[in-house]
Amino acid sequence: MTSVAELIESQVVRTVEAVRLRGTELEKAGAVQLVRFAPLVVTAEVDDAAAHVELTVVEGSLRWFCTCREGRAGAFCVHCVATALATRRRAPARPHR
Ligand SMILES: [Zn+2]
Repeated sequence: MTSVAELIESQVVRTVEAVRLRGTELEKAGAVQLVRFAPLVVTAEVDDAAAHVELTVVEGSLRWFCTCREGRAGAFCVHCVATALATRRRAPARPHR
């Protein structure tokens, strides 16, 4: 079973650098509150609940949703990045080497 934690890495890598950096800052600042943490569903409130993020696995692929403007347009936004990093911190990827 492929989990959210296993799929986020490649998505974060594909994200535009500016978004990735801002998301990294948010996560480091402790702005992510994980609400639900299951293998196939991660939800979080980011930036004092300014944004609500859902990362899910559907048919083996990562799906995401965020309530901010970019997220509603379908982007993997800064809040998605921050949530992805928080997920990785909570469930470190198994080493491949
Ligand atoms: Zn967002």
